[in-house]
Amino acid sequence: MPPLTVLILGGTTEGRALAAALRTYRVISSLAGRTREPLLPAGEVRIGGFGGVDGLADYLRAERVDILVDATHPFAERISANAAAATAATGVPLLVLRRPGWTERPGDDWRRVPSLEAAAALLPHLGRRVFLTTGRQGLAAFAGTGECWFLARSVEPPAPPLPPHLEVLLDRGPFTVDGELRLLRDHRIDVLVSKDSGGADAKLTAARRQGIPVVLIDRPPRPPAATMVNSVESCISMISQIGGT
Ligand code: NAP
Repeated sequence: MPPLTVLILGGTTEGRALAAALRTYRVISSLAGRTREPLLPAGEVRIGGFGGVDGLADYLRAERVDILVDATHPFAERISANAAAATAATGVPLLVLRRPGWTERPGDDWRRVPSLEAAAALLPHLGRRVFLTTGRQGLAAFAGTGECWFLARSVEPPAPPLPPHLEVLLDRGPFTVDGELRLLRDHRIDVLVSKDSGGADAKLTAARRQGIPVVLIDRPPRPPAATMVNSVESCISMISQIGGT
């Protein structure tokens, strides 16, 4: 019997960890191609969009994919919606691997908002020197916030429209609490903006220690009717169940 084929929609730490762990399967990881030097997962890798729902459905059939794992970032809404629609059309089982969101701890001062735009509207009431960690594609939402100065961290340089008072820090995690504390102090940051991505939380720990408020952008709704798992380990055991191994 040939090994089962698992397609992982990745671009995340979890996607890479899953690809490395599934040694007895044929694993194909798919990346969007947003970064010029992506961290490559183990196994086969394909890069670039599929061409919408139909393109993804065609790919599932052509590669005889047995299981699709959507391990994309919790804020990558479109590809997750496409994965739900393409698996519904082809009958391929879909597993959605999402790391849990963050929960507030004593000493935190968080304001949850539904969108980047809501974060931009709230900012001038909270502080003037902002550490923005929402990724380069979200910077446009802050382009009209001229009252604030921004330090924006991203892997790739951002493109306009951008906030008028902006310094860009090109960097990729993992980050340490000490490093984040130094950054907050050196730039006299008085408010942090982040998506509720979950996972490593050095910046949130640093903000708590510095007594800095955090504007946290809520996750978009999950795709309906998908089997959700919140760890690589549970994903592996669901894959074994589906594959009967
Ligand atoms: P998105 O808005 O949900 O997707 C836009 C389009 O990009 C999709 O329709 C699809 O094109 C293509 N695409 C996205 N992820 C893909 C993948 N893994 N493999 C192949 N094509 C993919 O996605 P996004 O928010 O721009 O994120 C892009 C990638 O970056 C995702 O893989 C995600 O895991 C990663 N990422 C995103 C964030 C974030 O904050 N959004 C943060 C960290 C990492 P077609 O319709 O042509 O197939």
